[in-house]
Parts: sequence; structure tokens; C-alpha cells
Amino acid sequence: MSGPTTGGWPPLREELRGIEPYGAPQLDVPVQLNVNENPYGPSPACVADIATAVAQAAVTLNRYPDREFTALRTALAAYLSKDATASIAPEQVWAANGSNEVMLQLLQAFGGPGRTAVSFAPTYSMYPEYARDTNTRWVAGRRAEDFALDLDAARDLVKTERPSVILLPSPNNPTGTALPPEAVGVLCEAAGDGDTNGIVVVDEAYGEFRRTGVPSALELLPSYRNLVVTRTMSKAFAGAGLRLGYLAAAPEICDAIRVVRLPYHLSAVTQAVALAALRHAPELLGKVDDLRRERDALVDWLRAEEYDVADSDANFVLFGRFADRHAVWQGLLDRGVLIRETGPDGWLRVSVGTPEEMAAFRAALTDVDGERA
Ligand code: PMP
Repeated sequence: MSGPTTGGWPPLREELRGIEPYGAPQLDVPVQLNVNENPYGPSPACVADIATAVAQAAVTLNRYPDREFTALRTALAAYLSKDATASIAPEQVWAANGSNEVMLQLLQAFGGPGRTAVSFAPTYSMYPEYARDTNTRWVAGRRAEDFALDLDAARDLVKTERPSVILLPSPNNPTGTALPPEAVGVLCEAAGDGDTNGIVVVDEAYGEFRRTGVPSALELLPSYRNLVVTRTMSKAFAGAGLRLGYLAAAPEICDAIRVVRLPYHLSAVTQAVALAALRHAPELLGKVDDLRRERDALVDWLRAEEYDVADSDANFVLFGRFADRHAVWQGLLDRGVLIRETGPDGWLRVSVGTPEEMAAFRAALTDVDGERA
């Protein structure tokens, strides 16, 4: 029998040995287009409101915060209701330190030994990590050549694997692909059919950037009790430093997560800042339309330059294909532009920044003019 002392030091779990921690390089360069942030920071009025809220929270920092973050759940429910057909109640909302933590909690509650989680590659590289960290079996189906979800194949995989959790990003990272409108319903039915009772998590981290006519899965919440829609304040909401992700689902699902969450996981400071930021929602989201236009212009430019470009409903674009993508990534970095070396072989991902940042990216790419496959 192997014990913690048999395999060297420190006594790390066997399956974690040699694994590099997840994370994009954090480099101090002039143009940072690598982690899909909103390039526009808060206004002085918003900063002042946040500072006041933090000062008020500081007065009672000797006490634990509201474990159920009732005021924040109420504010998030009101905010989400604007994007849904039926209004969303505070009991249908849950939040944690980034949507990464929200989804890890979902796997802690609904995955685990003897259970399976499914997604469709290429997709967000943290998903298999949530599965690994919760001892959930991980199964990745494949997307079609154009990165769209092959709905029939996806339904077949769900029927065969009977997953307890399906992770469906819309738009997908790193490809930018939104789900077809009928996909969520089809997969909720396939997953909830029979005795598996799997949940379908539609990860809408980039949902606010979707193109006109692409619906949010929030609209389907009244129809499927096994549907969970996750969102984040990190992207469109311009709050990556805040660490606040949230979900909307049936109240029983939110209640179940309460079993696995650490007590007081959302600090008083986080709750206060998130509430203040929500009061400034129109301002913080105010650049989303500009970013969508900038994204579409970037796709057009890359196509005119004869790159392969995936259709994007997000604030980033996957483009290629390069015989040596690392050389192109490095060439851009040498010119002060940091993008992300991720996704299928030969492709690179660039986040959408300000017009000035995008001009710098275009100039640097033209200069590097990587060898195309
Ligand atoms: N989902 C997707 C698809 C993402 O790309 C990211 C961040 N890169 C997240 C979730 C998590 O974001 P956060 O924890 O900042 O909410």
C-alpha cells in the first residue's frame, strides 16, 4: 500500500506530481492582450464609490461577513433578471471568488468519485482541472472542424457516458464559438433523462459579448431544473481584479452548493466592492459594444490578411495557422504585444483591447508576419 511517505517530498498526491500550475505568463509589457480582460478601468466616480464601500466594510472587519451574502445575491438576481425572460430570485443565485471557484464548487457538489464530467474540446483548460481536483472522471468529446458543437455527437456522448456534470461554455474559450440556440435544451433533456440526473452548466463568462441574435441560456432556466448558467464580473464587467463569479439555477442547486462551500468564502470586502460595482453596471459595461465592434473589425482584418480565423462571439479571437506558433508569439512579445499561446496546434488567441492596442497588435503581426502553415 502506498502512503504519503513513500513517494518523495513534499508528499503531494501521486496524480499531481510533476504538474505545472495553470496560468498565463504575467509579464509587464505595454500591450497586454492575453487573458481576455476588459481594457477599460473604472471611472474616478466608481473608484470613489468602491473606496467608500470598502471603508464602511472595514468598520466591522472584526466580525465574519454575511455567510449567505444576501444583499449581493439580491443585487445579482436583479441584474441577471434583465437578461432573462422570467425574473430570477435571490435563492436562484450563488456566487464565489471568480466563476472558476463557482464551477469547482459545482464539481465538489455534483461530481466526485464514481461520477463523470463531460465537455467538448478544444475548450477551457481549467475544466479538466476541476475534475482532477474533485476526483471526477473526465471525458472530453470533440468539436467539429470549425469548433462548433456537433449536437448529435454531443447527445450520443451524454447518453453513453451518463455524466453528472456537463460543462458547456458559450462562447467557448479559446475558440469564441457560441452554442447553437437548440443545444442547451437538447443536452438538458439528454442529461436529465433516466436516473443520472446530470446537470448542464452553461459557462457564460463571455456571454455579454455575444453577437446580436444569440440568446442567453438564462432564458431557458424556467424550462430545465438541471440547467445552471454561470457568469463572471471578470470580463465584460471590467472586474477581473475583484474575483467575483456567480450562477443562476434552481434554488435546490444553490442550496446543495452550500454544503461544500467554505464558511464565509466571500469576504466582507469582496461583497462590498461587488455591490458597489453593480451600482455602476451601466458604466462598467459601457464599452461592451465598442469591444464587440473592435472584435468584428479584427476578424475582418485578419481574414483580409488571409489568416484562418474562428468566428467569435467573445472578446478574443483565435487565429492561425502557424507552422511555429511559438515563434510568432515570441515575435509579438519582442515588439511589446503579449497574446496567448493556447488552443489547437498552430493557432494563437488575442484578446480585444483598445483601438490603440489593436493597432499595435496589427502592426506587430504585420512585422512578424509569421510563417503560415
Ligand atoms: N470560464 C471561461 C470560459 C473562462 O475563460 C474563464 C477565465 N479565463 C473563466 C470561466 C473563469 O473566470 P473567473 O474565475 O475570473 O470568473
